[in-house]
Amino acid sequence: MVLAELGGSISRAIQQMSNATIIDEKALNDCLNEITRALLQSDVQFKLVRDMQTNIKKIVNLDDLAAGHNKRKIIQQAIFNELCKMLDPGKPSFTPKKGKTSVVMFVGLQGSGKTTTCTKYAYYHQKKGWKPALVCADTFRAGAFDQLKQNATKAKIPFYGSYMESDPVKIAVEGVDRFKKENCDLIIVDTSGRHKQEVALFEEMRQVAEATKPDLVIFVMDSSIGQAAFDQAQAFKQSVAVGAVIVTKMDGHAKGGGALSAVAATKSPVIFIGTGEHMDEFEVFDVKPFVSRLLGMGDWSGFMDKIHEVVPMDQQPELLQKLSEGNFTLRIMYEQFQNLLKMGPIGQVFSMLPGFSSELMPKGREKESQAKIKRYMTMMDSMTNEGNSNPKLMNESRIMRIARGSGRSVRDVMEMLEEYKRLAKIWSKMKGLKIPKKGEMSALSRNMNA
Ligand code: GDP
Repeated sequence: MVLAELGGSISRAIQQMSNATIIDEKALNDCLNEITRALLQSDVQFKLVRDMQTNIKKIVNLDDLAAGHNKRKIIQQAIFNELCKMLDPGKPSFTPKKGKTSVVMFVGLQGSGKTTTCTKYAYYHQKKGWKPALVCADTFRAGAFDQLKQNATKAKIPFYGSYMESDPVKIAVEGVDRFKKENCDLIIVDTSGRHKQEVALFEEMRQVAEATKPDLVIFVMDSSIGQAAFDQAQAFKQSVAVGAVIVTKMDGHAKGGGALSAVAATKSPVIFIGTGEHMDEFEVFDVKPFVSRLLGMGDWSGFMDKIHEVVPMDQQPELLQKLSEGNFTLRIMYEQFQNLLKMGPIGQVFSMLPGFSSELMPKGREKESQAKIKRYMTMMDSMTNEGNSNPKLMNESRIMRIARGSGRSVRDVMEMLEEYKRLAKIWSKMKGLKIPKKGEMSALSRNMNA
């Protein structure tokens, strides 16, 4: 089950329960069982799921539910808190400081995306003004150095490695020493992810760590490994002092539940997620916005940050004004479709909203989605030509005229109007939005999630 589906299943379970006339123990249990099933299908470790169920039962007071309090909110809040707790080990990881040398060692199985992630991590920090460098201490896999070299060259990041030397410890130490002399403030050591025997792999990792004394060891995990995540993460943690986790391949068909298991196994936070093969498909991971998005509550702080980051200054007031009016017209829908097709800056902003592009333009199905949006736009053109584009005034004969005018079927027109309704609902949640200045985002996010 991919993450978006997990969020959907949880939200549906909560909705179903809050629709029930009497919320008794059975209704609550049904709801929790439904959520348990969804989490297990997403590869969250069984023990974690069972603990979560027990905790929610302890927190949620059935008397409160019976007394007519907002049931949906109470349960949703309890689940939100439990999911956050699962993903938050309670202590932050070491964060490198600009201008002060830090050594960060990457570990993980071959194929997990470790080498790619090393470069993404370096590139991310380079863009923020750091002076990173990459060291390839993987002498086991032929081609490992070439891959790192290629990635590093593309990102213009200095690198170190050897085709001749077979001792990974020696290379790691040489590389770290060299870049310390060159005043690099973030020295990243990529290690081997495979060996003839597992014992040898872990022993090598331990030796590299001992020799380079990393300030932080990052465990890289492929999000699609499933239930094996917990054991794998724990095995790494037992050999080296893992301090943070990066989960890769969260795009596509990833089962995200492994991330929760890895946090539990390593007692370390997820700090970034990989969302594609490209260098910049890499996101900072924040627990609360992530869980909000997962539960369809919207990532408001990320959304507002994105507006400030990517929408040109002179267009910000107009967009925020439209949002705060909460009135979603066909004109706005048309404009947003244009933006989504271009995936210009505003398109990126809307991809942050639950349901806006995740459902309209799911990753991996871009071609079909584009064709769908273009189809919608042709029908909307035909509506506007009719002179009256208020979808609320739609009746059978108008729908038929639009279908004829655009050369589409009545069913297509109905589908487009349904989409309009769905998006209008999302948009209307922003009605009354107070336009915050930069730096006031977290307050806004609290208000919107409340
Ligand atoms: P390593 O053996 O652990 O060093 O793994 P690599 O860095 O060679 O990555 C293995 C494959 O996974 C490569 O084809 C990468 O392009 C791909 N990959 C890495 N991270 C991501 C990601 O976040 N999303 C996707 N879709 N592919 C990724």
